[in-house]
Amino acid sequence: MDCIFCKIIKGDIPSSKIYEDDKVIAFLDIAPANKGHALVVPKEHYETLLDLPDELRSHMMSVVKDIARAQSSSLGNQGFNVLINNYKEAGQVVPHVHFHVIPRFGKEAMCLNWKPQKYRGKELDEFKDKIKKFL
Ligand code: 5GP
Ligand code: ZN
Repeated sequence: MDCIFCKIIKGDIPSSKIYEDDKVIAFLDIAPANKGHALVVPKEHYETLLDLPDELRSHMMSVVKDIARAQSSSLGNQGFNVLINNYKEAGQVVPHVHFHVIPRFGKEAMCLNWKPQKYRGKELDEFKDKIKKFL
C-alpha cells in the first residue's frame, strides 16, 4: 500500500520523531499550523477513528496527553488543539489515522475558525433526536 505514514513508520522516509513505543509513533508535522505541531500515529494502518480498536485509541490518547504536556513544558504554550480529520470531506489528506497536537499561543490567527450556523425552529431538537437514536 502506498501510505506515506506507513513508510515513515518503516523508516523508508525520514521524520522528526519525538516519541515511539511498540504501538505508536509521534513526529513533527512537516507543514505545521504552529512550530512544534505533532502527529500521533498508530504503527498499524487504520484509516480513521472509526477503524481504531478501543484499546489502541485509549493508548494513543494518553500519548497525546504526554505530548501536549511536553510541548507546553518546552515551548511555553498553555493552549493546544487535539484533532483528527476523518475522511477527505473533513480534510483528511493522509488516510492513516492520526491525532494532530497543535500548540497554541493565543496570538496567531485562529486555524480552527468556522462561521457558526443557526438552528431554525425545531431543528435543534430534530438533530438531537436523529443522532440519539443511534446511541
Ligand atoms: P490530514 O489532513 O490527513 O489530517 O493531515 C496530514 C498531515 O500530515 C498534514 O498536516 C501534513 O502536513 C502532514 N504530512 C504529510 N506528509 C508528511 C510527511 O511526509 N512528513 C511529515 N512529517 N508530515 C507530513
Ligand atoms: Zn499507513
